[in-house]
Amino acid sequence: MLCENNTLNLLELEGAEIKNVWNEAGMKHISVEIPKKLHCCPKCGEMTDAVHDYRHQKVRDISIYGKLTIIHLRKRRYRCNSCGKRFAETNTFVPRYHQVTSRLVAHLISDFGKVRSASDIAKDHGVSISTTLRYFDLVNYSLKSLPEVLSIDEFKGNAGGEKFQCIITDAKHKKVLDILPNRKSADLIRYFRDFSTRSSVKVVVMI
Ligand SMILES: [Zn+2]
Repeated sequence: MLCENNTLNLLELEGAEIKNVWNEAGMKHISVEIPKKLHCCPKCGEMTDAVHDYRHQKVRDISIYGKLTIIHLRKRRYRCNSCGKRFAETNTFVPRYHQVTSRLVAHLISDFGKVRSASDIAKDHGVSISTTLRYFDLVNYSLKSLPEVLSIDEFKGNAGGEKFQCIITDAKHKKVLDILPNRKSADLIRYFRDFSTRSSVKVVVMI
């Protein structure tokens, strides 16, 4: 439906179905679900679309039309009928281990580049000062070495004129190490070439 496409384009929640949009207590709320689809079992590689259960996750998003925005994500977990593994569906807009959308993280981090107080940044995005500082602390601007389990996720952040950014995380210790301005493989190779500790990486996870 044309109307639904326009809403999706406006909200830029790729791959999601918008179920409802409402205003409550001066905030904008959007309920979102990702359509059921075949997933590859992370344990045995069999394909499955068997649903195990659903969970609701509330995620803080960037402000829309000046209103603080909350995304209500109906998160699906799948079950592999071959090996019994249960696993969460994948989505491109909420990074793993976070309660905020990828694009909000990108906004919080890019705001640190401006000379502004943490409390101003927190107020703009409707999160607490401690959440803002947490992301500041999480980004290690002088990344010296690479972790044993390196995870590279891309997300749609629309920062610095680039549509997609890459988030580099230490998957074992659940720590964000760096945010890269784009996902071009030539730039990624150049970035990782500068590390003398590349051999310390045992596993690379890419989604
Ligand atoms: Zn399996």
